[in-house]
Amino acid sequence: MDDIARYRAFLDEGKTERECVRKIIELAEAHGFRNIEDTETLVPGDKVYFVQYSKSIALFTIGSGSVEEGMNILGAHIDSPRLDVKMNPLYESDGIVYLDTHYYGGIKKYQWVTLPLAIHGVVVRRDGEKIEVCLGEDDEMAFCISDILPHMAEEQMKKTASEFIAGESLDLVIGLGSDEDDGEKDAGRKRVLSIIAEKLGIEEKDFQSAELEVVPAGRSKMLGFDGSMILAYGQDDRVCAFTSLEALLENTNDERTCCCLLVDKEEIGSVGATGMDSVFLENAASEVLARLSGYDGLKLRRMLRNSRMLSSDVNAAYDPLNASLYDKKNASTLGGGVVFNKYTGSRGKSGASDANAEFIATLRSAMDAEGVRYQMSEMGKVDTGGGGTIAKYAAYYGMQVIDCGVAVLSMHAPWEITAVSDVRSAKACYKAFLGI
Ligand code: MN
Ligand code: MN
Repeated sequence: MDDIARYRAFLDEGKTERECVRKIIELAEAHGFRNIEDTETLVPGDKVYFVQYSKSIALFTIGSGSVEEGMNILGAHIDSPRLDVKMNPLYESDGIVYLDTHYYGGIKKYQWVTLPLAIHGVVVRRDGEKIEVCLGEDDEMAFCISDILPHMAEEQMKKTASEFIAGESLDLVIGLGSDEDDGEKDAGRKRVLSIIAEKLGIEEKDFQSAELEVVPAGRSKMLGFDGSMILAYGQDDRVCAFTSLEALLENTNDERTCCCLLVDKEEIGSVGATGMDSVFLENAASEVLARLSGYDGLKLRRMLRNSRMLSSDVNAAYDPLNASLYDKKNASTLGGGVVFNKYTGSRGKSGASDANAEFIATLRSAMDAEGVRYQMSEMGKVDTGGGGTIAKYAAYYGMQVIDCGVAVLSMHAPWEITAVSDVRSAKACYKAFLGI
């Protein structure tokens, strides 16, 4: 398989953070990585990973140098905007059976209606049995959110785009009552439940202990006559996760300890035990230190403070159809190479982690030495909007960190666009970074 085929398989087989972590472990183990919990000591050359609740993972290659001198860290996130299934989701309304959802992350709600959707995730029964769910990816079963026909949409079309599809109406059509039900209340709903019970071995109450994510159905595609682009769900930020992971799997820096962090919950503020606004990195680094030279609080602080990190996250590509939103000379272009963002944030850089000029100079030098194509950019015009990444949570430890990733068109849409050449530039950049 070539690099783009591998990238597309990574996207297709990892539409949720759990699926993604499972795929990452499979790839890492094939490259000689072991679960750190199965090791007692570590020596230079060892490769290990540390997993948090099946949703975040940190991978390390142990270098021969002192770990107190810091690590080279690539950090990306593996959660993407989607619709989560509620805990009491099933209902029937006038003969149509629905599944109720609650959206996750920043979405334009109107983009999620009238396209085929799939349900991925897990249901954990009271007896602890975990059922993996992946429904809606083949042609024999699909799910969809309906919308009103244009002929009757006069009122709807007068509303603003943020209002005309309400969050509460993002409910999937999953079944239908029938004439044979003879007006029996909720007959369609009961029938759907019995099919679910047969297919998955779960009952209605089991939705209470489930994590089911509604995502666009279907596989990634090559985009354009020339195959120069990729059209797929969840490229924010699995394009950076994949390229970061491959860079670490192929890492040849045997002197400095290197790390690839792939975390959950970035899209809702890096919260929780699997997000970057936690001591996940600190815990993972502590486990490494404990097996190398013994845990020591001061050593851990030095290990983190002296690290360098690329917060590998995507950037808004310049969009010629919405040109007025960009400062063109400070915008990243699709196909223009990997993107460095000195700072993110919104308005007066609020919420930004602003990288040091000295660090950027080191990176420029490393990129130029390896012939990596890169561009310096910010996201949109000054007052247009903005956002944050995991960079600031790494910066908390005092390490050098900058945002660096792939330009994306239609970011956060069900189907996002990237350029093949940028995927390659990102990987080349991450490999060059690990080498410094
Ligand atoms: Mn992102
Ligand atoms: Mn995002």
